[in-house]
Amino acid sequence: MAELQKVETVGIPALEGKYIGEMDIWPFECQEFNRLYPFFDNLRAGKFTTTKCKKCGHIGFPPGVICTKCWSDELEWVELPQRAKVVTLTETQAGAPAGFPSPLILAWLTFGEKSPLKHLLGRIVNCKEGELKEGDEVQFVVFDVPSHPIEVKKETKVCDRVFYAFEPVKK
Ligand SMILES: [Zn+2]
Repeated sequence: MAELQKVETVGIPALEGKYIGEMDIWPFECQEFNRLYPFFDNLRAGKFTTTKCKKCGHIGFPPGVICTKCWSDELEWVELPQRAKVVTLTETQAGAPAGFPSPLILAWLTFGEKSPLKHLLGRIVNCKEGELKEGDEVQFVVFDVPSHPIEVKKETKVCDRVFYAFEPVKK
């Protein structure tokens, strides 16, 4: 019974563990729950990747299990650049969604003409309000996401989780 209580109350520390697992904003990343688990395994290995269609060559982001251009399910994993330039950005100073500290900074990033993926809307971390400017360089960073117990085939399991963001490149 004590164990059940724990499962129901452990959440993300943003609200001091007071909200339930169902409000979890982060994906389950382990193989049992997620067909895109290689993306998260690659993050753990420090690689930023996405899927490329073997049929038509389309590279999309976020990665998927079928091609959004030709519906083929023959996809392969490709690596993306880890540095990008800020095209424009927005800083949410109040009222950021639960789980995100303020300021919540989102930036439209460009990876350059040679990159398989040209642009991405990325979250910026390790950055103070007003610090980041258009044209600044940012780099890919992986951070740990709190996990909580989930039931996998009648066994309680805690899957480690990670996610990615970008941080300013220190000059
Ligand atoms: Zn395709």
